[in-house]
Amino acid sequence: MSTHFDAELIRRHDINGPRYTSYPTALQFDEHFDREAYVTALSKLGHGVRAPISLYMHVPFCDTICYYCACNKIITNNRAHAEAYLGRLIREMSLHRDHLADNHAIEQLHFGGGTPTYLTNAQFEQVFEALGQSFNLLTGAERDYSIEIDPRTVDPERIRFLAGLGLNRLSLGIQDFDPAVQKAVNRLQSEADTAAVMQAARDSGFESISVDLIYGLPLQTPESFHATLKRVIGLAPDRLSIYSYAHLPQRFKTQRQIRDADVPGPETKLALLGTAVNTLADAGYEYIGMDHFAKPDDPLTRALRNGTLQRNFQGYTTHRQCDLVALGVSAISSVDGVYCQNAKTLDEYNAAVDAGELPIERGVALTDDDRLVRAVIQKLMCASTLDIRAFEAEHDIDFRDYFADEMRALVAFEADNLLEIEDDAIHITERGRFLIRNICMTFDRYLPQAKEQRFSKAI
Ligand code: SF4
Repeated sequence: MSTHFDAELIRRHDINGPRYTSYPTALQFDEHFDREAYVTALSKLGHGVRAPISLYMHVPFCDTICYYCACNKIITNNRAHAEAYLGRLIREMSLHRDHLADNHAIEQLHFGGGTPTYLTNAQFEQVFEALGQSFNLLTGAERDYSIEIDPRTVDPERIRFLAGLGLNRLSLGIQDFDPAVQKAVNRLQSEADTAAVMQAARDSGFESISVDLIYGLPLQTPESFHATLKRVIGLAPDRLSIYSYAHLPQRFKTQRQIRDADVPGPETKLALLGTAVNTLADAGYEYIGMDHFAKPDDPLTRALRNGTLQRNFQGYTTHRQCDLVALGVSAISSVDGVYCQNAKTLDEYNAAVDAGELPIERGVALTDDDRLVRAVIQKLMCASTLDIRAFEAEHDIDFRDYFADEMRALVAFEADNLLEIEDDAIHITERGRFLIRNICMTFDRYLPQAKEQRFSKAI
């Protein structure tokens, strides 16, 4: 479980690649895909058994713009937008409910954005009332009900209210505490307010607090980022996600507000990542994989150790793979091997829901081969080991025959000591865990056709 940060190795393997929160990735989603396949998958879900589901709700609104942001969001102070949107979100929920066979338990619930707390307390109550009417909301420890919090938009009272609704996990956006960096990205956020929100979350029973930081932001230096990390560690979050900022002003208009000259170059960025990995390791945090760190006694770390870690659209999780129903503009659902994404503009989303239709814009139904590759990637990313015999028994294939080209390609990674190939298994080494996406790319059938620049770099 030790952390090995080898700057030279990472420099050599720093290429664009997917993060594999899904396979195939969203680039493979197609507007001409068969929507009925999704409806059929929905209607089959849980026939005979009350299969638990995962439910995602997207709230796209934000009060102000953070210049680095590449999310699908709408910047507005006009709260009437949220009122109208909420009505449609609840309408979309019932459109899904019409196709479902049973009153499914929601095992995982996630509010993402944008800024979910753009909704008022009364609007949250409305959402939970609608959820309770369509689904079975859980109250026990088995539930994983999370929300993304922008600390600038809430006070301790608000946090207590959200806990009272049944939410038990939250992730806080911090990004960086340095005032100069905050000014350069238009996100001013005091450490005191953030600490107060975290304390309120602990006091009101949130079981897990995660914080998000970003490296590669304008004006960051290894020294300034180290100072931010020390201050964040002082707040003792259970988990941290350290994301890489990809400066792509040609693609994301708001990033043009950031001066190119202020953005750290590749070498500084590598030093920033090294600073994060080493500072967190020194503080006792374990590297989970793909930007995620957690305390040694966190359920995520225990899941990594005992081989039960999972990965979904929100990143790593301890929960088994559930079918995911995602509501809201641009949200992506995944039900029984069918991925589909909702309309990405509010106008298109509104028009579809108002017409009484699921607002699906594009998607993909997985082939048998997609399911096999997805299973390989899931094993490598979550367990760091692929037991070839067990995989063959589960999927009824001859692994070395089916993946003959890929096994040959893996030899190059073995030479760099990123993995070990045995007769019956592929083991990812500690060094290899930092480059897991590169290893998984070997199995990706679509990568040669994909435009590489659509993906972010490993660093
Ligand atoms: S980073 Fe979050 S709060 Fe900032 S603009 Fe993007 S979605 Fe909104």
